[in-house]
Amino acid sequence: MFSDLLNSLSWEQTTERIYSKTEADVVRALSAEQCGIEEFMALVSPAASGYLEAMAQLSQRLTYARFGKTMSLFIPLYLTNSCINSCLYCGFHAENHIPRTILTPEQIDAECRAIKALAPFENILLVTGENPYRAGVEYLREAIEIVKRYFDNVKIEVMPLASEDYSSLKQVGLNGVICFQETYNRSRYNIYHPRGMKANFDWRVNAPDRMGQAAVHSIGMGVLIGLEDWRTDVTMLAQHIKYLERRYWRTRYSVNFPRLRPAENGGFQPNVVMSDRELAQLTFAFRIFDHDIDISYSTREQAEFRDNMSTLGVTTFSAGSKTDPGGYATYPQSLEQFSVSDSRTPMQVAAALRGLGREVVWKDWDRSFDLWRDIQGR
Ligand code: SF4
Repeated sequence: MFSDLLNSLSWEQTTERIYSKTEADVVRALSAEQCGIEEFMALVSPAASGYLEAMAQLSQRLTYARFGKTMSLFIPLYLTNSCINSCLYCGFHAENHIPRTILTPEQIDAECRAIKALAPFENILLVTGENPYRAGVEYLREAIEIVKRYFDNVKIEVMPLASEDYSSLKQVGLNGVICFQETYNRSRYNIYHPRGMKANFDWRVNAPDRMGQAAVHSIGMGVLIGLEDWRTDVTMLAQHIKYLERRYWRTRYSVNFPRLRPAENGGFQPNVVMSDRELAQLTFAFRIFDHDIDISYSTREQAEFRDNMSTLGVTTFSAGSKTDPGGYATYPQSLEQFSVSDSRTPMQVAAALRGLGREVVWKDWDRSFDLWRDIQGR
């Protein structure tokens, strides 16, 4: 399990190594045949801040070679804001007295139809808070069965599950799972996650191993930017992805780097602020480090910034997102998990991308592949 490897990596020493990188290390990393962890640390270090143009060009070249000019679009569907955890930075945390909603099967169906009326999405992400008592595996199974009638590619971003639960959800059409570690700083993790099952660091950090064991087709990962030193956190993330790619090599991987935004929870202030330039640097570094990884930007980011980055390394966008359960059809605006910055409609996002020469992809998976993978024992 990855927790064993992580235990052998010192947070403090990793930080020290990143901050001791020089411009000569950056130049070497940019011309290296293979970008390993040492080179990655150079590319995310402060020493690389003067090399953004060269990094952007290399990132663009590698992205076009692997993905062409495609940009996949997906939309999130929040099923519930019920949660037993107490993440300090989230508006859905258990002590926050807000109306809690768990969409019924009829409401999920109505949300799907409303999304289909917005745009021809085939990629959907089901999101829940973490409440195994009221929205557990059985609830997810029923939700996936409904949603699969409308969408070919169904992913979930829910509480970490056991391997057999991922396997059982695959049987009803699950294609991918996203689970952010938030931070890899074990000694500070519980400051942000003091109660509930999310307080169990190892259970969370080993969730991608359990997804891999269940042969989940696509695994999405990330850290929450704003908790700990982002350069160290993303280096741990890079280590984690390389570890997984070696073990579960038929799985596809994606990353996302959400930056903390204000939430309705008493105003948690980020400890670390990442600028647009730094997010661009990180995006380029990840592409140079891993040519095949899907890099996703959400509507947390501003429209103009997203558009700029769409030609330089990013391969997936969310669009038209509502981050409150029932936000597309069932309820008028209720409390959102976070406020979106890019509030354009999906069709406006698509038009802007086409204007930039990108090929918009609404569908990058066909349900017949599910059957094929079953036949292959995957
Ligand atoms: S981040 Fe997720 S687990 Fe934490 S309080 Fe919010 S909804 Fe619950």
